[in-house]
Amino acid sequence: EVETVRRRIAPLLEGRALAEVEIADARLTRPLDPVEVARELEGERVTVVDRRGKYLIIRFVSGRALLIHLRMTGSVLDGLHDDDAHRRAVIRLDNGAHVSYRDVRRFGTWLLLEPEEVDAYVDARVGREPLGTAYRSKHLAEKLAQRKAPVKSAILDQRTVAGVGNIYADEALWRARVHPLTPAEALGPGEVSALYKGIRAALQLGIRRQGSTLRDYRLPDGGSGSAQHEFKVYGRDGEPCDRCGTPIDKIRVGGRGTWYCPNCQRHVARRR
Ligand code: ZN
Repeated sequence: EVETVRRRIAPLLEGRALAEVEIADARLTRPLDPVEVARELEGERVTVVDRRGKYLIIRFVSGRALLIHLRMTGSVLDGLHDDDAHRRAVIRLDNGAHVSYRDVRRFGTWLLLEPEEVDAYVDARVGREPLGTAYRSKHLAEKLAQRKAPVKSAILDQRTVAGVGNIYADEALWRARVHPLTPAEALGPGEVSALYKGIRAALQLGIRRQGSTLRDYRLPDGGSGSAQHEFKVYGRDGEPCDRCGTPIDKIRVGGRGTWYCPNCQRHVARRR
Protein backbone atom coordinates (compact mmCIF):
# COMPACT_ATOMS: atom_id res chain seq x y z
CA GLU A 1 0.00 0.00 0.00
CA VAL A 2 0.90 3.67 -0.16
CA GLU A 3 2.10 3.65 3.46
CA THR A 4 4.72 1.06 2.56
CA VAL A 5 6.03 3.29 -0.24
CA ARG A 6 6.05 6.29 2.09
CA ARG A 7 8.09 4.44 4.69
CA ARG A 8 10.58 3.38 2.05
CA ILE A 9 11.17 6.76 0.44
CA ALA A 10 10.83 9.11 3.43
CA PRO A 11 14.40 8.50 4.68
CA LEU A 12 15.77 9.14 1.17
CA LEU A 13 13.92 12.39 0.61
CA GLU A 14 13.50 14.12 3.97
CA GLY A 15 15.94 16.98 4.38
CA ARG A 16 17.14 16.74 0.80
CA ALA A 17 16.70 19.29 -2.00
CA LEU A 18 15.58 18.28 -5.49
CA ALA A 19 18.58 19.17 -7.65
CA GLU A 20 17.25 17.97 -10.98
CA VAL A 21 13.83 16.67 -11.99
CA GLU A 22 12.97 14.96 -15.25
CA ILE A 23 9.34 14.08 -16.00
CA ALA A 24 9.21 11.94 -19.14
CA ASP A 25 5.46 11.36 -19.31
CA ALA A 26 3.04 14.26 -19.90
CA ARG A 27 0.18 12.21 -18.42
CA LEU A 28 1.74 12.52 -15.01
CA THR A 29 1.19 16.27 -14.77
CA ARG A 30 -1.52 17.01 -17.31
CA PRO A 31 -2.94 19.45 -18.10
CA LEU A 32 0.28 21.13 -16.99
CA ASP A 33 3.46 20.93 -19.04
CA PRO A 34 5.75 18.33 -17.41
CA VAL A 35 8.83 20.40 -18.21
CA GLU A 36 7.41 23.40 -16.38
CA VAL A 37 6.38 21.31 -13.37
CA ALA A 38 9.85 19.76 -13.27
CA ARG A 39 11.45 23.21 -13.33
CA GLU A 40 9.18 24.39 -10.49
CA LEU A 41 10.19 21.37 -8.40
CA GLU A 42 13.91 21.94 -8.84
CA GLY A 43 15.40 23.66 -5.82
CA GLU A 44 12.57 22.65 -3.46
CA ARG A 45 13.79 21.11 -0.21
CA VAL A 46 11.76 18.29 1.37
CA THR A 47 10.63 18.63 4.97
CA VAL A 48 8.56 15.49 5.34
CA VAL A 49 6.98 12.74 3.27
CA ASP A 50 3.41 12.39 4.42
CA ARG A 51 0.43 10.30 3.46
CA ARG A 52 -3.28 10.93 3.49
CA GLY A 53 -5.34 8.04 2.18
CA LYS A 54 -3.84 7.04 -1.13
CA TYR A 55 -1.96 10.30 -1.62
CA LEU A 56 1.74 10.57 -0.97
CA ILE A 57 2.43 14.14 0.06
CA ILE A 58 5.98 15.40 -0.32
CA ARG A 59 6.05 18.62 1.68
CA PHE A 60 8.64 21.29 1.01
CA VAL A 61 10.28 23.99 3.14
CA SER A 62 8.53 26.58 0.93
CA GLY A 63 5.12 25.31 2.09
CA ARG A 64 4.36 23.84 -1.31
CA ALA A 65 3.67 20.11 -1.64
CA LEU A 66 3.88 17.51 -4.38
CA LEU A 67 0.86 15.20 -4.25
CA ILE A 68 1.51 11.84 -5.83
CA HIS A 69 -1.37 9.46 -6.45
CA LEU A 70 0.03 6.05 -7.38
CA ARG A 71 -3.26 4.62 -8.68
CA MET A 72 -2.93 0.94 -9.65
CA THR A 73 0.69 0.49 -10.66
CA GLY A 74 2.67 3.58 -9.67
CA SER A 75 5.60 3.27 -7.30
CA VAL A 76 8.49 5.37 -6.11
CA LEU A 77 11.84 3.61 -6.06
CA ASP A 78 15.30 4.18 -4.70
CA GLY A 79 17.82 4.60 -7.53
CA LEU A 80 18.13 5.57 -11.17
CA HIS A 81 16.42 2.62 -12.94
CA ASP A 82 17.43 4.07 -16.30
CA ASP A 83 16.96 0.78 -18.15
CA ASP A 84 13.35 0.47 -16.97
CA ALA A 85 10.87 1.15 -19.81
CA HIS A 86 8.18 2.02 -17.23
CA ARG A 87 10.14 4.75 -15.50
CA ARG A 88 8.15 7.97 -15.95
CA ALA A 89 10.18 10.41 -13.89
CA VAL A 90 13.45 10.64 -12.05
CA ILE A 91 14.69 13.02 -9.37
CA ARG A 92 18.34 13.69 -8.61
CA LEU A 93 18.80 14.84 -5.04
CA ASP A 94 21.40 17.30 -3.77
CA ASN A 95 23.43 14.41 -2.29
CA GLY A 96 23.69 12.76 -5.72
CA ALA A 97 21.16 9.99 -4.97
CA HIS A 98 18.27 9.29 -7.34
CA VAL A 99 14.62 8.51 -6.78
CA SER A 100 12.59 7.12 -9.67
CA TYR A 101 8.89 6.99 -10.38
CA ARG A 102 7.70 3.87 -12.17
CA ASP A 103 4.19 3.26 -13.51
CA VAL A 104 3.21 0.45 -15.87
CA ARG A 105 -0.36 1.53 -16.58
CA ARG A 106 0.31 5.28 -16.33
CA PHE A 107 -2.74 6.23 -14.26
CA GLY A 108 -0.65 7.86 -11.53
CA THR A 109 -0.59 11.64 -11.13
CA TRP A 110 1.77 14.31 -9.83
CA LEU A 111 0.30 17.58 -8.69
CA LEU A 112 2.34 20.49 -7.31
CA LEU A 113 0.24 22.57 -4.93
CA GLU A 114 0.90 26.04 -3.57
CA PRO A 115 1.03 26.39 0.26
CA GLU A 116 -2.52 27.71 0.63
CA GLU A 117 -3.97 24.95 -1.56
CA VAL A 118 -2.55 21.86 0.10
CA ASP A 119 -4.88 21.20 3.04
CA ALA A 120 -8.09 22.14 1.25
CA TYR A 121 -7.23 19.96 -1.73
CA VAL A 122 -6.46 16.90 0.35
CA ASP A 123 -9.37 17.35 2.78
CA ALA A 124 -11.80 17.53 -0.12
CA ARG A 125 -10.68 14.22 -1.58
CA VAL A 126 -9.74 11.98 1.29
CA GLY A 127 -11.82 10.60 4.12
CA ARG A 128 -10.47 10.26 7.62
CA GLU A 129 -7.67 7.80 8.25
CA PRO A 130 -8.89 4.32 9.17
CA LEU A 131 -5.83 3.74 11.31
CA GLY A 132 -5.92 7.13 12.97
CA THR A 133 -7.44 7.72 16.35
CA ALA A 134 -9.92 10.22 14.87
CA TYR A 135 -11.64 7.48 12.93
CA ARG A 136 -14.27 5.59 14.84
CA SER A 137 -16.75 2.85 14.15
CA LYS A 138 -19.47 5.49 14.59
CA HIS A 139 -18.02 7.57 11.77
CA LEU A 140 -17.93 4.53 9.49
CA ALA A 141 -21.55 3.75 10.40
CA GLU A 142 -22.61 7.28 9.43
CA LYS A 143 -20.85 7.02 6.07
CA LEU A 144 -22.26 3.58 5.25
CA ALA A 145 -25.80 4.53 6.28
CA GLN A 146 -25.84 7.05 3.42
CA ARG A 147 -24.94 4.51 0.75
CA LYS A 148 -27.19 2.13 -1.19
CA ALA A 149 -24.17 0.72 -3.07
CA PRO A 150 -22.75 -2.72 -2.20
CA VAL A 151 -20.63 -2.44 0.93
CA LYS A 152 -17.54 -3.55 -1.03
CA SER A 153 -17.88 -0.54 -3.36
CA ALA A 154 -18.62 1.77 -0.44
CA ILE A 155 -15.44 0.91 1.45
CA LEU A 156 -13.31 1.23 -1.70
CA ASP A 157 -14.61 4.79 -2.04
CA GLN A 158 -11.98 7.15 -0.63
CA ARG A 159 -14.72 9.38 0.76
CA THR A 160 -15.90 6.55 3.05
CA VAL A 161 -12.57 5.17 4.26
CA ALA A 162 -9.18 6.39 3.16
CA GLY A 163 -6.58 3.97 1.93
CA VAL A 164 -8.49 0.70 1.56
CA GLY A 165 -7.61 -1.01 -1.72
CA ASN A 166 -9.25 -4.00 -3.40
CA ILE A 167 -7.25 -6.62 -1.50
CA TYR A 168 -7.91 -5.22 1.96
CA ALA A 169 -11.58 -4.60 1.24
CA ASP A 170 -12.03 -8.33 0.56
CA GLU A 171 -9.93 -9.32 3.56
CA ALA A 172 -11.85 -6.95 5.86
CA LEU A 173 -15.25 -8.21 4.68
CA TRP A 174 -14.19 -11.82 5.26
CA ARG A 175 -13.03 -10.97 8.78
CA ALA A 176 -16.35 -9.23 9.45
CA ARG A 177 -18.38 -12.08 7.86
CA VAL A 178 -20.18 -9.58 5.64
CA HIS A 179 -21.17 -10.41 2.05
CA PRO A 180 -19.58 -7.90 -0.36
CA LEU A 181 -22.89 -7.27 -2.16
CA THR A 182 -24.79 -6.31 1.00
CA PRO A 183 -26.15 -2.77 0.54
CA ALA A 184 -24.01 -0.53 2.78
CA GLU A 185 -27.07 1.04 4.36
CA ALA A 186 -28.45 -2.40 5.35
CA LEU A 187 -25.60 -3.23 7.75
CA GLY A 188 -26.58 -3.44 11.39
CA PRO A 189 -24.48 -1.91 14.20
CA GLY A 190 -22.82 -5.25 14.99
CA GLU A 191 -21.80 -5.74 11.37
CA VAL A 192 -20.44 -2.19 11.07
CA SER A 193 -18.43 -2.69 14.23
CA ALA A 194 -17.05 -6.00 12.92
CA LEU A 195 -16.23 -4.35 9.59
CA TYR A 196 -14.43 -1.49 11.33
CA LYS A 197 -12.29 -3.97 13.23
CA GLY A 198 -11.77 -5.99 10.03
CA ILE A 199 -10.50 -2.95 8.12
CA ARG A 200 -8.09 -2.02 10.89
CA ALA A 201 -6.80 -5.58 11.20
CA ALA A 202 -6.40 -6.04 7.45
CA LEU A 203 -4.56 -2.74 6.99
CA GLN A 204 -2.29 -3.33 9.96
CA LEU A 205 -1.38 -6.73 8.59
CA GLY A 206 -0.68 -5.11 5.22
CA ILE A 207 1.67 -2.55 6.70
CA ARG A 208 3.51 -5.21 8.68
CA ARG A 209 3.97 -7.25 5.54
CA GLN A 210 5.92 -4.31 4.05
CA GLY A 211 5.18 -4.16 0.40
CA SER A 212 3.71 -7.48 -0.66
CA THR A 213 0.72 -5.47 -1.86
CA LEU A 214 2.85 -3.74 -4.44
CA ARG A 215 3.86 -7.08 -5.87
CA ASP A 216 0.23 -8.17 -5.91
CA TYR A 217 -0.78 -5.13 -7.90
CA ARG A 218 1.23 -6.53 -10.77
CA LEU A 219 -0.82 -9.73 -10.79
CA PRO A 220 -4.01 -9.77 -12.86
CA ASP A 221 -7.22 -10.56 -10.96
CA GLY A 222 -7.14 -14.30 -10.35
CA GLY A 223 -3.44 -14.62 -11.01
CA SER A 224 -1.39 -16.72 -8.66
CA GLY A 225 1.60 -15.63 -6.64
CA SER A 226 3.27 -16.74 -3.45
CA ALA A 227 2.22 -13.61 -1.55
CA GLN A 228 -1.41 -14.52 -2.07
CA HIS A 229 -1.12 -17.44 0.34
CA GLU A 230 -0.98 -14.84 3.09
CA PHE A 231 -4.49 -13.67 2.25
CA LYS A 232 -7.65 -15.25 3.63
CA VAL A 233 -9.76 -14.82 0.50
CA TYR A 234 -8.06 -12.54 -2.03
CA GLY A 235 -7.01 -14.51 -5.12
CA ARG A 236 -8.03 -17.83 -3.57
CA ASP A 237 -11.13 -18.91 -5.54
CA GLY A 238 -11.75 -22.64 -5.16
CA GLU A 239 -9.49 -22.95 -2.10
CA PRO A 240 -11.08 -23.84 1.26
CA CYS A 241 -12.05 -21.04 3.66
CA ASP A 242 -9.67 -20.96 6.66
CA ARG A 243 -12.69 -20.77 8.98
CA CYS A 244 -15.21 -23.26 7.59
CA GLY A 245 -13.61 -25.13 4.67
CA THR A 246 -16.16 -23.95 2.09
CA PRO A 247 -14.50 -23.16 -1.27
CA ILE A 248 -13.86 -19.43 -1.72
CA ASP A 249 -15.97 -17.94 -4.51
CA LYS A 250 -15.10 -15.11 -6.89
CA ILE A 251 -17.57 -12.55 -8.20
CA ARG A 252 -17.34 -9.04 -9.59
CA VAL A 253 -18.52 -6.07 -7.57
CA GLY A 254 -18.41 -2.63 -9.17
CA GLY A 255 -16.09 -4.03 -11.85
CA ARG A 256 -13.54 -5.34 -9.34
CA GLY A 257 -12.61 -8.97 -8.78
CA THR A 258 -14.04 -9.89 -5.37
CA TRP A 259 -13.34 -13.00 -3.30
CA TYR A 260 -15.48 -14.18 -0.37
CA CYS A 261 -16.68 -17.25 1.50
CA PRO A 262 -20.26 -18.07 0.47
CA ASN A 263 -20.85 -19.78 3.83
CA CYS A 264 -19.29 -17.31 6.31
CA GLN A 265 -20.40 -14.26 4.35
CA ARG A 266 -24.07 -14.79 3.55
CA HIS A 267 -25.92 -12.28 1.45
CA VAL A 268 -28.14 -10.02 3.55
CA ALA A 269 -30.33 -7.46 1.82
CA ARG A 270 -32.54 -6.45 4.72
CA ARG A 271 -33.05 -2.86 5.76
CA ARG A 272 -32.21 -1.67 9.23
ZN1 ZN B 1 -16.05 -19.70 5.43
